[in-house]
Amino acid sequence: MPGIPFPRLVNDFVATLERLSATVIREQNRDTQRPARIRALTGEGVTDCLLFLWAVTPGGNNRPENERRIQATGLDGRIPLIPGARTLLGGWSEEAGVYVFWDARRHVDFGSHGSNSLQVTIETLEAAQRVGIATQVRPSRMGSEVVVAVTPDSLLWYVQNGGALHNTDQDANGVPDLVDATTEDEARFINESRDESQTARRYDLVELMRAYRDAKFRPAVLRAYRYQCAVCQTALKLVDAAHIVPVSYPQSTDEVTNGLALCRMHHGAYDNALIGIRPDYSIVVNNERESALTAINLHMGLDAFKAALPAMITVPAQAEVRPEPRNLRLGLEARRFPGDLIA
Ligand SMILES: [Zn+2]
Repeated sequence: MPGIPFPRLVNDFVATLERLSATVIREQNRDTQRPARIRALTGEGVTDCLLFLWAVTPGGNNRPENERRIQATGLDGRIPLIPGARTLLGGWSEEAGVYVFWDARRHVDFGSHGSNSLQVTIETLEAAQRVGIATQVRPSRMGSEVVVAVTPDSLLWYVQNGGALHNTDQDANGVPDLVDATTEDEARFINESRDESQTARRYDLVELMRAYRDAKFRPAVLRAYRYQCAVCQTALKLVDAAHIVPVSYPQSTDEVTNGLALCRMHHGAYDNALIGIRPDYSIVVNNERESALTAINLHMGLDAFKAALPAMITVPAQAEVRPEPRNLRLGLEARRFPGDLIA
């Protein structure tokens, strides 16, 4: 299998993050040499990365048939660990269409000692392709290591938040089950811990995977709306995925039909209940919120804001991903809209 040149791997990695609406700044002059230095910015914050990436290839002669690996080529010195930055040590599997990352902290001498390859099984890569994320717990020289595989849609989440998965030890085996877990499944997973420290670790893992579900929702919603605000059609990477029924409500789901792509301003106005979307997709302004803003003298810009609102939101062309009218009604109720505006 021919290797994929490092600059192309980096280009694809950056394009994937950009597609998920991150802004990516890269240090250009080191492009052909590992690591690539990348800064990813989103509404959630800034992540600086040192990126070591190879193509994932089959294990080769005399190796198990299901083994896949990266091999340390083009390395100049040790794998650096720099406080404030994330060192990403991984590969791209063209075969499975997923990224896979090893725990860089355990491989600072990757390539400089006897071992110059890191392994993962094809089963793990294929599980990630199906579920969005998968883990494999492998022995390493420093106890067991958690290897994490993610689809391109989950890459931004991994870059920003997924590092904690490498700390979950044997509990990482529960990760694929937690992706679609109910609240009861999550409670059972936590309660079946053998001691208090495992309870704490499992609780953290459940919280991490909840954040993952939320992150999975984002690309699906943004794609459905062509990365544009449903109200004003702005793109400009200023668009978020908003939940119609708020996440804290039991009826809330991470289905695209419970989502709206909204620019930062209209997302704020929607969550503050200044504007609402009715089940027929018409946009309403909440007169009670208008009065409350006027009373505290924060009504400046209101007339222009209202004048720029269209009568209806723009929904996706595909009917099955449009907002569910029942969700829109629940969303208005959850935000305490006056009854006459909901009907
Ligand atoms: Zn907007």
